[in-house]
Amino acid sequence: GAEAAIEELRQRLAPEGNVVSEAGRRKTIEVFGEPLTPVEVVKRICAEVKSRGLDAVLGYSAKLDGADLTADQLRVPAEELEAAHAAAAPEFLATVRRIRENILRFQTAILHSDVQIATPGGGFLRQRYLPLERVGICVPGGAAAYPSTVLMTAVPAQAAGVKQLAVVAPPTRFGSYNQDLLATCCEIGVDEVYRMGGAQGVASLAYGLGDALRKVDMIVGPGNLFVALAKKHVYGEVDIDSIAGPSEVIVIADENTPAEHAAADLIAQAEHAPGSAVLVTWHEPLLAEVNVALERQLNELERGDLARHSLQEFGAMILVHDRDHAARVADTLATEHLHIACAEPDELLTKIRCAGAVFLGPHSPVPVGDYAAGPSHVLPTGSTARFASGLSSNDFLRSNSVISWTAEDLQQNAEDIVRIAEKEGLTAHAATVARRLS
Ligand code: NAD
Repeated sequence: GAEAAIEELRQRLAPEGNVVSEAGRRKTIEVFGEPLTPVEVVKRICAEVKSRGLDAVLGYSAKLDGADLTADQLRVPAEELEAAHAAAAPEFLATVRRIRENILRFQTAILHSDVQIATPGGGFLRQRYLPLERVGICVPGGAAAYPSTVLMTAVPAQAAGVKQLAVVAPPTRFGSYNQDLLATCCEIGVDEVYRMGGAQGVASLAYGLGDALRKVDMIVGPGNLFVALAKKHVYGEVDIDSIAGPSEVIVIADENTPAEHAAADLIAQAEHAPGSAVLVTWHEPLLAEVNVALERQLNELERGDLARHSLQEFGAMILVHDRDHAARVADTLATEHLHIACAEPDELLTKIRCAGAVFLGPHSPVPVGDYAAGPSHVLPTGSTARFASGLSSNDFLRSNSVISWTAEDLQQNAEDIVRIAEKEGLTAHAATVARRLS
């Protein structure tokens, strides 16, 4: 029954299947006067921002976030960013700087570089990589503040050489009024921060708001269901990183894994609320041990009730036959995070292909990647790790191919080109090559 249970979990966590809370539904009716689905809500907001621009954005900020802003309050002034930076605790800024260094080191090391090969006739073929000019970053701010998201999106873009970064965060105390967030932006050199969130923030980045905000080439960053669906809606107008749903982890554990650690790892994911946390083991006694540890730790935690609810709704413990079976389950679920917490984790990793980010061994719990290590924490969810990868500096590059043939290269290949062109009936293609030979 594991596969059926996995499929059921996946359906519940997929962005479009994801439920909107009762309060969210009431808000939608309050704002639109009718019970629209999240997809319909997002379509309306995007269409209105496209046609009415800034007025529409300010209207939605008032209705959805309770923020009555004027046009000149949309962008956070430079003085406000600097004031937040000046007021920040030195140790917080030192942490931001150290994490930025870690991210920059890794994201620079993995960057694609230009490739050139010589052709037989003395010419060359090249693939060259260039950074995007302008990128928009969504930073969530509905229920919690995320300075880490600024670091995990903006720094990979900076590593790629992107010069213009525009951050949008809801006009809330967890969003663009959050002092830690503003101080972080200032510390890493992001000076364009806009007070708008949700679908209206995404649409503004995609379509632009005249002089108030220039449209971007790509939108990255996480968000709730409305943000995810808005990114899907504007894709094509701009590029996007991914359509992310709630967070997930699989912890693969065995008799060497302390039950307390496995439980703590499951709860850490579940406290995202919703967050899906799945334990996979072939060591049956661990199931009961982890259950006991879960109960004790949940009772002690600040967000214990939220995490408990998430574990009940989206959690699972899967008893597998052996390591190979565990690998198959991990590949089927293809989760955002995979923590291989059993003995010989490297060997098990060779059997697994699909995961957003992998955490090996006892000293690499998921928060290491969430906050500090270097790979971005913006990762594919809902089994999309089957075909998608986590955000990285390379996503901010575009490549051009460059062809530079000599007369000899053309001579050597002309017959093949003419033959194919004539087969396709594109005789002008054939002619322009043939003309150069004569
Ligand atoms: P958010 O900023 O994504 O969304 C808040 C916005 O949603 C509001 O400003 C409003 O415009 C819009 N909205 C809310 N209710 C609405 C409604 N009924 N109709 C239309 N629009 C509505 O903040 P959030 O809600 O806190 O969600 C953040 C999400 O991002 C969480 O699920 C969190 O787990 C996730 N997250 C993921 C990562 C990651 O890297 N994977 C990092 C940080 C946060």
